[in-house]
Amino acid sequence: MTQIIKTNVLGFPRIGRNRELKKAEESYWNGKSSVEQLLEVARAIRLENWKIQSQAGVKFIPSNDFSFYDQVLDQTLALGAIPERYNALKNNLIELYFAMAHGIQRNGNDIIAMEMTKWFDTNYHYIVPEFVKNQKFSLTTTKAADEFAEAKAAGIVTKPVLLGPVSFLLLGKEKEEGFSRIDLIDSLLPVFAEQLKSLEKVGAEWVQIDEPCLVLDLDEKVKALYTKAFNYIRNNTHLKIVLTTYFGGLRDNAALALSLPVEAVHVDFVRAPEEFDTIINAVPDGKILSLGVVDGRNIWKNDFAASLALIRKAVNRLGAHRVWVGASSSFMHVPYDLAAETDNQSLAPEIKRWMAFACQKTSEVVTLAALAENFNDPALQNIYNQNVADNADRKQSPLIHNAKVGERVNTVTSDDYNRKNPYPARAKKQQERLHLPKFPTTTIGSFPQTAEVRSWRAKNRKGELSNQDYTRLLKEETARAVKWQEEVGLDVLVHGEFERNDMVEYFGEKLNGFAFTKNGWVQSYGSRCVKPPVIFGDVSRPEPMTVDWITYAQSLTQKPMKGMLTGPVTILQWSFVRNDQPRSETTKQIALAIRDEVVDLERAGIKVIQIDEPAIREGLPLRHSDWNSYLDWAVKSFRLSSSGVKDETQIHTHMCYSEFNDIIEHIAQMDADVITIECSRSQMELLDVFGRFSYPNEIGPGVYDIHSARVPSVEEIVNLLVKAQKNIPAERLWVNPDCGLKTRAWDETKAAIKNMVEAAKSLR
Ligand code: GLN
Ligand code: ZN
Repeated sequence: MTQIIKTNVLGFPRIGRNRELKKAEESYWNGKSSVEQLLEVARAIRLENWKIQSQAGVKFIPSNDFSFYDQVLDQTLALGAIPERYNALKNNLIELYFAMAHGIQRNGNDIIAMEMTKWFDTNYHYIVPEFVKNQKFSLTTTKAADEFAEAKAAGIVTKPVLLGPVSFLLLGKEKEEGFSRIDLIDSLLPVFAEQLKSLEKVGAEWVQIDEPCLVLDLDEKVKALYTKAFNYIRNNTHLKIVLTTYFGGLRDNAALALSLPVEAVHVDFVRAPEEFDTIINAVPDGKILSLGVVDGRNIWKNDFAASLALIRKAVNRLGAHRVWVGASSSFMHVPYDLAAETDNQSLAPEIKRWMAFACQKTSEVVTLAALAENFNDPALQNIYNQNVADNADRKQSPLIHNAKVGERVNTVTSDDYNRKNPYPARAKKQQERLHLPKFPTTTIGSFPQTAEVRSWRAKNRKGELSNQDYTRLLKEETARAVKWQEEVGLDVLVHGEFERNDMVEYFGEKLNGFAFTKNGWVQSYGSRCVKPPVIFGDVSRPEPMTVDWITYAQSLTQKPMKGMLTGPVTILQWSFVRNDQPRSETTKQIALAIRDEVVDLERAGIKVIQIDEPAIREGLPLRHSDWNSYLDWAVKSFRLSSSGVKDETQIHTHMCYSEFNDIIEHIAQMDADVITIECSRSQMELLDVFGRFSYPNEIGPGVYDIHSARVPSVEEIVNLLVKAQKNIPAERLWVNPDCGLKTRAWDETKAAIKNMVEAAKSLR
């Protein structure tokens, strides 16, 4: 029987089963291997991906979803939007490409990279296209056509993926004044059409045009641009088009998206199940609807019963010919293959049973479509029943549900969100206790994690270094860091975080409700990957997590030692989270665990405690109208974690980005006694918003950029601090670097902090 309902995968992880691409690229960048070797690794990854999907039986297999660095950069290069500063490199496309991605300092060239920013609300980062007034476009690569041909030669017919012209412009940035990038559409469209022609030439039938910006707030001008662009495209190609949206519902853009002249529209119903009925009733006659029902953003097994109900509903309304079953987004945001997780210690089989990675999700897409047509097929029945059993098991599992956590959450009262007294009263008591000088100096938490420190951890993991010896070595390192901080004259010290691999993983490993994978890597940017923890169940803290380290460090000095914790929103944001309860609920549980830690630190005599929340801003929803409800629970979670202490205990928080303009009110509502922020790259300009808002509490604007090995001079720092006083009165100013010093070397760190302390002293 031939399958009528078609299956659609939007993109596959391109890092390779074992992060082969990372290894090949880094070796190529270091001059250790040839470009041919790199190309060979890339070819092998693409081929394996296509084969996995083809063998699973996927109908619409993506191509051109592979990238050496980033799919937006691929499109930037393909369409010839090459910033002028790279002109000298134009005769070597691969060198040009990597130079655009991460800059180049070689053969007399010294050219900075293009900017990088977050891809919608994921932890992936893309390279931001740069546009100028007289922007020219020209078809520069035929990567999409080449990869289609490559797959075809291997016997696999694919659906090339292109970032659509409107999103391409919207995701970019004007690099000079006097024009709006959306007005470039007229010069862009002919080149985009040429790109489509190149696909026709190699025999493509379908193309996936990604327009994720359709899930954002769009003004009328941009909406009109969509109509214009897709009419132009329609008149200039014979390819069949699946207009693809993801990461959110279409909301007020639904009518627009469904009206565009394309054969099929893809919608993310994992993110926007509430839109399902509206959309299936609004799809114009003859148009295909691709249902994004298998989650491309999270690692849970699909709920077949629920998905099938949707698919059947769509089939009833549209007919099987007009329904595709697909992933909600590209699978590049989930790890490659769950089968690689064979260590029962870090990932218990009971939990693994609830999970699915890209390979498994690919099969889910195919199985769902098959079930929708042949529900009674015995082989399919078996798979279905297994899925139902796995999901039922998850719902009831005692591993997930911890009655004590529920009870604890229920005892939270409104008082728990508030410190005993407002900031001015607290500040007074804190000053009486801490006796800090004006312009107090501190650091953000971590000190250099040298190769040596990392090697101890690696050896300890492999069992080559006993826990006892490992702890002793870390204690010695901590003691050295404390001693040096005293010598250099810092006012509030830190222990250095040497025992932490990662600021989220460290806490996840100590909390109940978290699991870890061995190979669950997802691309963060370029060759960089992260391995997020999995929050599978109710979160609780079996015992103190940092008290031993912090009290040990405090025992070495008379100066205040700052306790270092990661905040609840950041822990949530950088993990795979459970999808069986709202994120706000999970965050509340984490907040309570952190709260207990904060109280324990206080009880152990720690007078200053920092709760890092570098990820609060990146959790912002894509639609403005959703911001307030998110910020409300995010701020509350922070307050819940930080408000269990007495007035005289000083709470710090830290954030390392620089756009506070639109959230300053909420930052103030967090009510930390001190906030330290990244500031040096904007030369203190971002303090303007704190000034305008009359931010009431203390602020430590970063006085030097920790991403560079450069040592700032005393004078430079003094100048920045003088500038800072335009917005923040001296009484409420702290002096600190932009962020943690984990990635720096000791000598530059020592030189920089020495100058920083000297600058603070000279201002007193
Ligand atoms: N305390 C952390 C550190 O210093 C903060 C890191 C961060 O902001 N990303 O490493
Ligand atoms: Zn930071």
